[in-house]
Amino acid sequence: MRVVFTYDTEEAGLCIPALRVITRAHRRFDAPMTLFVVGELADGQEGPALKRILDETPDLHDVNSHTYRHSRLICKNPWSLPVPTPEFIFEETARGVASIRDRLDRPCRGFRPRSGAGCGFRGCPENLSALRAAGCEWSSAYLKSAFEDSLPGDLHGPFSYADDGYDDLLELPGHGWQDALVKDYGRGRQYAVRWPSPFAYPPRLVETPQEEFGVHRRTLDAAEEAGLPFCCFVFHPWTMIRRQDPEGDCIDLLLRVARDRGHEVSTLDAEARRCREQPALLWPAPPIPPQRTQGYDVARRFA
Ligand SMILES: [Zn+2]
Repeated sequence: MRVVFTYDTEEAGLCIPALRVITRAHRRFDAPMTLFVVGELADGQEGPALKRILDETPDLHDVNSHTYRHSRLICKNPWSLPVPTPEFIFEETARGVASIRDRLDRPCRGFRPRSGAGCGFRGCPENLSALRAAGCEWSSAYLKSAFEDSLPGDLHGPFSYADDGYDDLLELPGHGWQDALVKDYGRGRQYAVRWPSPFAYPPRLVETPQEEFGVHRRTLDAAEEAGLPFCCFVFHPWTMIRRQDPEGDCIDLLLRVARDRGHEVSTLDAEARRCREQPALLWPAPPIPPQRTQGYDVARRFA
C-alpha cells in the first residue's frame, strides 16, 4: 500500500506559514505531498509567498485545485443548501483550475471540492462535465461516508467515472478526514463534531500530537486491512499546525510509521498515473446515492 498526504490549503493568513512547517517535515523524509489550493488564495496577497515555497522544492508538491472560493459543489442531501447551479459549478471549477495554472504555474490535473461527499461525483453530471472542460484528469471528492463525517471515511478504492459517461476521469477517494474533527484547532469545540461511525472515536477531543497520531494510525490500519492501493489522508495546514503541535510532530510520527511499515509515500497525481497504467488497481464505482437520482422524494422516504 502507498500513503498519500493531502493538504487542503484554504484559510488566508493561516495556511501559508503552516505549510512552511509541513514542507520541512516532508523534506526530512524526502516524502512528497499533494496540495489542494483555493484559487482566491493563489490570486491573493499570499500567492507569491506560496509560489516561493513551491518553487524551492519543485518535486515535493503536486498542486491541484480546491475550487475558486472554497465552495461546496455537491448537494449532498435534499436539505443541504444552497444547491449549486450548473453555472456556479462551472465557474468555480474553471476559475479554480485556471488560477493554479496561471498563478502557481502548475499543470493542475486534479480537483477537490470543499467538504466532499459520499461517493464523490457519482450522479453529478454538471461537476464531471466542468472537470472535463477544465482539462482535469481526476477528482478527490469522495471524502465521506453514508454517515457523512465518519472515522475513517468509507474505505473505497480509486475508480473510473466511466459509468457516468466520463471514462477520462478518475476518482481518488480520501480516507481520513479527521484532522478537523477530533480536536479543537483554535476555532472552538463546536467545530469538532462527532457523527455515528462504525469505528471508534477517541473518548474525548485529542490534545497532543501523539494522541492525534493514534487516531490517524487507526485509519492507516483500516486502509491496510481493506486492501486499498493507497491510503489518502485529508489534512489542512492550518489545523495540523496548531498551538498544541507547532512543529508538526503528528505529521512526523505518521511519516515515520509509513516508512517503518514499508509504505511508499506518494501523491495523487502519481496514483492517478499508476491507476491508468494498471487498471486492475481500480475498484468498481460505488452506486449513485439515491438522493441524486431524478424523482427522489425525501418526504416519501420518511413517511
Ligand atoms: Zn476545504
